[in-house]
Amino acid sequence: MATDTPTLMAHCTLCPRECGVNRSLSSGYCCGTDRATINTHQLHHWEEPVLSGTRGSGTIFFSNCTMRCVYCQNFEISRLGYGTRRTADELCGMMLDLQQRGAHNVNLVTPSHYTPQIRDSLIIARERGLVIPVVWNSNAYEKPETLQLVDGLVDIYLPDFRYYETESAVRYSSAPDYPEWAKKAIVEMHRQVGTLSVKTGIAERGLLVRLLVLPGLSAEVRQILKWIADTIGNETWISLMGQYYPTYRSHEYPEINRGITREEYEECRICLEELDFENGFVQGVGSSRDYTPDFRE
Ligand code: SF4
Repeated sequence: MATDTPTLMAHCTLCPRECGVNRSLSSGYCCGTDRATINTHQLHHWEEPVLSGTRGSGTIFFSNCTMRCVYCQNFEISRLGYGTRRTADELCGMMLDLQQRGAHNVNLVTPSHYTPQIRDSLIIARERGLVIPVVWNSNAYEKPETLQLVDGLVDIYLPDFRYYETESAVRYSSAPDYPEWAKKAIVEMHRQVGTLSVKTGIAERGLLVRLLVLPGLSAEVRQILKWIADTIGNETWISLMGQYYPTYRSHEYPEINRGITREEYEECRICLEELDFENGFVQGVGSSRDYTPDFRE
């Protein structure tokens, strides 16, 4: 596979959609063009404590997305594409600005469809003094060979493993092959960075898997946890998220047009215990700010 950005953009097969479009002339399923489009860059204090620390995580929100989640909480950015096209130099400037403002890390949110552009900026940023860890905060709908473009440049992988069953992936995100690609992507991420290492409460390098509990889909979270334990190991760090709320097009899907129940969340938390996961975070139901590192209640 060619690795230079112009060639990759001339016939885009970066993600499993494999549209094959020339992104200099048009856009594919993700709606991303040949320039990284960015909504905002800012310090974020409500990521997992090992990422936000005391000074905040330096988030950079990329516009557009390779998934079409009907409950997307950032749909103005992911679907409506609110943002500004940026050069490699401008993106590099944002990374260095976040470091200068005290961020514990640079946290690239929904980066997959701009992987080569981000790779180019990271190379410049490292040369210009970027020393804090780089976090790849993605939906895990990614090809291993695309992730290899940032091998050695990304320190922390933060994938969201969303569905275990094809039916759910089709119904809620129009991605029938999501489960198989997410598994391959997470194995590749783990190969690159290994188990998360944390020093004085701050993540330095490794894998942290996010699991968002969706209404009626606790059983899939349990299947995912079992797969992680069997494939990568139960020393893997897990963030079990209880912050789902119905938004965007959830009202068209009555079964997910509600928050999750305490019972649904508890089923997943108990599964963490049963499989002897010891590292990571659980949340209060409905809360996006309340993380605790204790899996056992
Ligand atoms: S990154 Fe976008 S254009 Fe490229 S294959 Fe995926 S959806 Fe299509």
